[in-house]
Amino acid sequence: MRHRWLVVGIALSLSPAGVRVAQARSPHTTNAQPAQLQPTPLPLKRHPVVALTFDDLPAGGGLPTSDTRTGIAGRLAAVLNANHLKGTYGFVIGSDLDDDPDAQQALRIWTGAGMNLGDHTWSHPSLDSESAAAYEHEIALDESVLRHYSRKDNWHWFRYPYLEEGDTLEKRNEVHGWLRAHGYRIAEVTLNFQDDDWSDPYDRCLASHDAAGISWLTQSYLENAVEFIRLGREEEQIAFGHEVPNVLLLHATAFTTLMLPRLLELLRQEGFRFAPLSKVERNRAYSLDPGAATDGPLTNQFLNARHLKYPQFTAEPVSKLNSICR
Ligand SMILES: [Zn+2]
Repeated sequence: MRHRWLVVGIALSLSPAGVRVAQARSPHTTNAQPAQLQPTPLPLKRHPVVALTFDDLPAGGGLPTSDTRTGIAGRLAAVLNANHLKGTYGFVIGSDLDDDPDAQQALRIWTGAGMNLGDHTWSHPSLDSESAAAYEHEIALDESVLRHYSRKDNWHWFRYPYLEEGDTLEKRNEVHGWLRAHGYRIAEVTLNFQDDDWSDPYDRCLASHDAAGISWLTQSYLENAVEFIRLGREEEQIAFGHEVPNVLLLHATAFTTLMLPRLLELLRQEGFRFAPLSKVERNRAYSLDPGAATDGPLTNQFLNARHLKYPQFTAEPVSKLNSICR
């Protein structure tokens, strides 16, 4: 599991910016009792915008015994192209290419199909436990792979591993400054439903030919996506006062590749329109700085920095994911 950020706060928010606060009284409330403040999120936009991004190329998640990295990259790119999503970014961990012809070919397939590459460091370290200098070296080391495999000079996009941007403000500002000085833009995220947490369970269920297990994984993946996409959009209302064009974090795993057609259909049903990463991140929200040492999707960084409370949400089914098909 390469992506881990702490989901904090289940409590209802009281009066965040952009969220209507209504007084909700039960029929049995008496005048002696204080009114309960209950937030009412604004209606969600009918046609939100999203850019898809894929982390941990060319080796996201485990590899099912019957599969190859080349096969996964080819199927993923084919689905994207069938949905007119050429130019989608995949963020590369350079060390995963070492002495692995299958992984190397996977990147060639990805770029050959018209997809883009971005920097995800050489070996996926945690910035919260690295010095800024060591981390910057990791970013620079990945560039040899990007130069070699990219077909365009548009790979100066950086995705922080684990969405960790530094455990001190000094470290955060140092790495941000280094990225700016070296021509990078930060590929911030607004939507994340931890899709890679379904990767290991899928590999297990596939190996044990457990059709019922895979059926549950399929359903719970989509339910979790719906819930966390709604949550992310409501968080934007709280953090920014309105929804913003989105960046969705996904992983180039075998299971997300399998699920992608249904996920795209789901996004369309929710009214989403697709846009390139570069266009989405021209929105002003992506140039704002929360000014605090905080991690996670951009929206969460603002919620954390401003001590705003999160909307309620149904948590990911972690215990069943951990136990299924064992
Ligand atoms: Zn990653």
